Amino acid sequence: MSEVIVAGGGPAGLAAAIAARQAGLDVSLFDGARPPIDKACGEGIMPDGLAALQRLGITIPPVQACAFRGIRFLDDSHSVGATFPNGVGYGIRRVLLHELMTQHAAALGVKMHFGTRVTGISAESVEVDGKRVPFGWLVCADGQNSPLRKMSGLFPSASAGIRYGFRRHYRVPPWTDFVEVHWADCGQMYVTPIAQDQVCVAFITNNLNLRFDAVLPRFSKLSVRLADAEIAGTTIGAVTASRRLRRVHSGRVALIGEAAGSVDAITGEGLSIAFRQAFELAAAMRANRLDLYQKSHERITRVPRNMSRLLLSLDRRQRFRKSVLAALEREQGAFERMLAIHTGSGSVREVGLRQALRFGWKLLDA
Ligand SMILES: Cc1cc2nc3c(=O)[nH]c(=O)nc-3n(C[C@H](O)[C@H](O)[C@H](O)COP(=O)(O)OP(=O)(O)OC[C@H]3O[C@@H](n4cnc5c(N)ncnc54)[C@H](O)[C@@H]3O)c2cc1C
Repeated sequence: MSEVIVAGGGPAGLAAAIAARQAGLDVSLFDGARPPIDKACGEGIMPDGLAALQRLGITIPPVQACAFRGIRFLDDSHSVGATFPNGVGYGIRRVLLHELMTQHAAALGVKMHFGTRVTGISAESVEVDGKRVPFGWLVCADGQNSPLRKMSGLFPSASAGIRYGFRRHYRVPPWTDFVEVHWADCGQMYVTPIAQDQVCVAFITNNLNLRFDAVLPRFSKLSVRLADAEIAGTTIGAVTASRRLRRVHSGRVALIGEAAGSVDAITGEGLSIAFRQAFELAAAMRANRLDLYQKSHERITRVPRNMSRLLLSLDRRQRFRKSVLAALEREQGAFERMLAIHTGSGSVREVGLRQALRFGWKLLDA
């Protein structure tokens, strides 16, 4: 019997296991896959996520990653960027992040069981390898589609905009210390520097029939950058969705990471959200009050959800997007303030109503 069983050992499950150990709980973690566990991801950790990762006791060695100072939006005729108000983000290959987190969890005493799926759930035990394993708390961290969420009787109240993501690595020195989000009519390609000689490119689209090589020329500035770059490894894909749940806990079961709902990958916030949730969940289990986790979960996901909606509206409405990019280009500082809100360093109130109205007028005038 473990006080806490974590089902799913991706970034969210590992973060939950580590935070629970830090809170003094006894933890066992099960994952159906075996390391190295890879997944399609843009591989960027935003500054707030990096801070949460450090609180979990994980410092990314600079030689294994690449720092980025801000975000830049580009299309064929516009380019607008801003630096983060606080700190930097890190690009790191997913398998390296997984390895760092796994090692740290094991060092803290989390009992790790890779290659072991959780196949059933009841009120006080899970089924693993045909046996019942009792738990004090169960944390389901089994990702986007989360069969365990359904088994727990927790369902999304809203699912909007399923999109498809493909990730590819290119062997080329990063040409910028920004994450670049390239926009085109078929979706976005965003580029994260992940090593001195490598970048990660994620293509996100709502059209499953589109393929990376076929659409790359539509991203004119990016295709020039990548023209002579060697592709490293294979291209892998995953679904991304904006999904919201009314409740993220039931009885002694709680959900975390994408199992608990998700924002579109374009926000680059999935990992940061999961890392921040981990502390709140550990504290709630410690206090025997999962209702506290529900409240923190809503607080943590509110801004990313709104940002996800805004960015998806730019994806759907091309003329509007062009106007927004043009207005952001003209309005010095607006993108910076938007980024501050996105990364949790500023609030809409701080940005100011006057500023918002002025920006709105420029949009109409564009
Ligand atoms: C194309 C794309 C780009 C993205 N880019 C970024 C980005 O740049 N930055 C960012 O922060 N986020 C990004 N995201 C989101 C980010 O990848 C997710 O938020 C993150 O992977 C969620 O982690 P998770 O642990 O919840 O789920 P997962 O990473 O999916 O892990 C779930 C784990 O559960 C295991 N599992 C499943 N079922 C069971 C079971 N029954 N029993 C035991 N184990 C089980 C799986 O093997 C897996 O290891 C991106 C997503 C996509 C699709």
